[in-house]
Amino acid sequence: MHIDIDTDTCVGAGQCALAAPGVFTQDDDGYSTILPGREDGGGDPMVREAARACPVGAITVSEAVG
Ligand code: SF4
Repeated sequence: MHIDIDTDTCVGAGQCALAAPGVFTQDDDGYSTILPGREDGGGDPMVREAARACPVGAITVSEAVG
């Protein structure tokens, strides 16, 4: 799994950090960022929930190929 956050789209709603606090956090400006080393989601099933919860669809979850 690979997670991308479109930081141009993110409005800092914080829904992702609420849904999956083990993967997402918010930076000093309130925008979403991925915790260090968690770009692969860390096997957290809440990652997809967080992507759905994002009101502007800024989170893309893709399956790693191979
Ligand atoms: S839920 Fe979406 S808009 Fe809100 S902080 Fe996360 S990525 Fe940004």
